[in-house]
Amino acid sequence: MSGSEAHPPAGDFVRELVAADIERGTFGGRVRTRFPPEPNGYLHIGHAKAITVDFELAREFDGDCNLRFDDTNPDTEDASYVEAIVADLAWLGYERGESYDEPLFASDYFDQLATWAERLIEDGLAYVDEQDSETISAQRGGYGNPGIESPHRDRPSSESLDLFRRMRAGEYADGSKVLRARIDMQAENMQLRDPIMYRIRETEHHRSGETWKVYPTYDWAHGQSDAIEGVTHSLCTLEFDSHRPLYDWYLDRLSERGELPAEQPRQTEFARLALTHTVTSKRILREMVESGRVDGWDDARMPTLRGLRRRGYPAESIREFCSFVGVARTNSRNEIELLESFVRTRLNAIALRRMAVLRPLEVVVANWPTDDAGEPVVEHMELVNNPEDESAGTRSVPFTGRLWIERDDFIADPPPKYYRLSPGREVRLRGAYLVTCTGYETDDDGEVTRVEVSYDADTKGGTAPDGRKVRSTMHWVSAAHALDGRVALYDRLFTAEIPGERTGDVLDDLNPDSVEVLTGCRLEPALGDTPPRDVVQFERLGYFAHDPDEAGLFHRTVGLRDEWANIRKRRG
Ligand code: ATP
Ligand code: MG
Repeated sequence: MSGSEAHPPAGDFVRELVAADIERGTFGGRVRTRFPPEPNGYLHIGHAKAITVDFELAREFDGDCNLRFDDTNPDTEDASYVEAIVADLAWLGYERGESYDEPLFASDYFDQLATWAERLIEDGLAYVDEQDSETISAQRGGYGNPGIESPHRDRPSSESLDLFRRMRAGEYADGSKVLRARIDMQAENMQLRDPIMYRIRETEHHRSGETWKVYPTYDWAHGQSDAIEGVTHSLCTLEFDSHRPLYDWYLDRLSERGELPAEQPRQTEFARLALTHTVTSKRILREMVESGRVDGWDDARMPTLRGLRRRGYPAESIREFCSFVGVARTNSRNEIELLESFVRTRLNAIALRRMAVLRPLEVVVANWPTDDAGEPVVEHMELVNNPEDESAGTRSVPFTGRLWIERDDFIADPPPKYYRLSPGREVRLRGAYLVTCTGYETDDDGEVTRVEVSYDADTKGGTAPDGRKVRSTMHWVSAAHALDGRVALYDRLFTAEIPGERTGDVLDDLNPDSVEVLTGCRLEPALGDTPPRDVVQFERLGYFAHDPDEAGLFHRTVGLRDEWANIRKRRG
């Protein structure tokens, strides 16, 4: 994978830990990680971080990484998300059959998990509680507040076993009973205050259908699923650090009983990825989709992999970015400009250069020749496709006496230091000719409607034989050959660097003007051959991705200016 080769990750604490385990021969020197998405939404840039950590670590240490769907909550999950996650992973560079064998599912372990739960009940380590969820949560207490033991805590295990089996058989209503681990209601760590292992759910599960009436909680399912799969290093985000003692408690109890080997998977936490001006919370992203604030999970403004893909972010850039920021022990937020700089660098190397005029203004070349039939001559200019890549070759761009230029590339009464077109000023039309402005027309409102220039026939290609210089080079499109297009320009999705920090509500910081769609844009003919999703550079304007669904619609991926460099400079 080119990403990690471009930026070999530093010896971070996770890699050091894995290397030390291998050296000591823990797990027989084996490494197996897993990426455990819950199929209840689409992958976003935060998941990309976890994905690259899990898969790249396994690859670097000659191990394996499992894709395991953590599908333990039928209320929110759906098979369509499973497919979408597999597809998005493949796009990111982690293909089924290559990076992992087949997707695995926690729901395939439901039988084993229930059997193990019964073992814990038999050992007096779990019991059925019949209080409602409010009571249970009130009794949990808080930091410095003692917990209160459930009246069912000391019921005979035979009774709990019978009740649990009847819960499994569907005899009880949703919410009427739970199975809890019997640990310590006075534990300082709240997670150990008799955590819930099973809940009754009447919902149909997307894989197991109506087979199950009880569903394991994250904590009960996760470590045991890791153990079943032979996972050695279970990497997760920092908010799970208080869960680690519980993760270990379950595994310890099962291995004491001989249900599991003594050597158990180990959970290690690393910092979540967060970016400025956007969010990496599935819940908020869902809310934005469902309330119509964006056009869907694959809206080009979304930080989902689908959104970034539509926007034109190369998968390699996302991997390179993730590997560059690496794993840390404390949460922080990375500037979105840093991610964009990886995108820009990659696109600069691969994107074909094209000309497009977003806000067109008509230019007439007054002294342009006509042919014998009285028609304006058409000349073909050879322009390079990518100055960074000679193998990309050249293309032929038609030039005639009527052109489109960018509206703001002409000012009738220019301010100082404005070097683009204005009366009497000579400029270069990229790859074509030097032209001088000889006049302009306006409408009743004084709005410029058309500009007249004369061209110097000796300057074909854009250089003057007498060596005279012009200060400005402008892009253009021949009016007779222009294709019509639409362009979506994007601003930050959230105006605040840290959405919600000041307003208290993330959605209050949504930028109401995060997209501007321009119609009637004029495109050079070669843009008609741009495959869907390809990204090109519109000269002087930025990188633009061709929409996968609508021909002629281009999304601005990123601008040309390296804003990350400015941020670095500002910081000194
Ligand atoms: P949910 O609130 O729905 O659980 P989640 O973000 O945890 O959301 P999961 O599908 O459970 O979503 O996440 C799969 C894996 O991706 C987990 O291991 C999780 O820790 C990791 N992950 C999720 N968001 C980030 C993030 N912002 N940075 C790094 N890893 C993340
Ligand atoms: Mg989760």
